[in-house]
Amino acid sequence: MERARLPRLARPAGPDRAYLVTVVDDRARAVVLRSSSGAGRPPRRSICSLCVTTHTGGVALLVAPLAGPAGRQGNSVGAYVCSDLACSLYVRGLRETGTRIHESLTQEQRIDRLRDNLTGFLAKVAVGEAK
Ligand SMILES: [Zn+2]
Repeated sequence: MERARLPRLARPAGPDRAYLVTVVDDRARAVVLRSSSGAGRPPRRSICSLCVTTHTGGVALLVAPLAGPAGRQGNSVGAYVCSDLACSLYVRGLRETGTRIHESLTQEQRIDRLRDNLTGFLAKVAVGEAK
């Protein structure tokens, strides 16, 4: 799978839903995410699984249904993600959390890591297509 382009994340009016739209292998991919409350709450200081930004209380568990029949049966996959969905800004230093861990990676390497992590998340969602 070709690496995903950087995601376009948006939060619509509903506070518990978000949409992730990106391009993989020259195909647009869109995933509907919803906030998951209840079990699995992250600790107070958390790290976004996509952009690896450290937050204090600023990471949410977002859940996407698996593609295909598995998703229609209610199976889903989740990821802890920046609750403001600003991963693209964090990796570019355009938004700060105040709790940033020093990394030796360059900005370009952080952007590449975000793309790789996004590709991995979308691959987990796509697992349902094969079933
Ligand atoms: Zn993030």
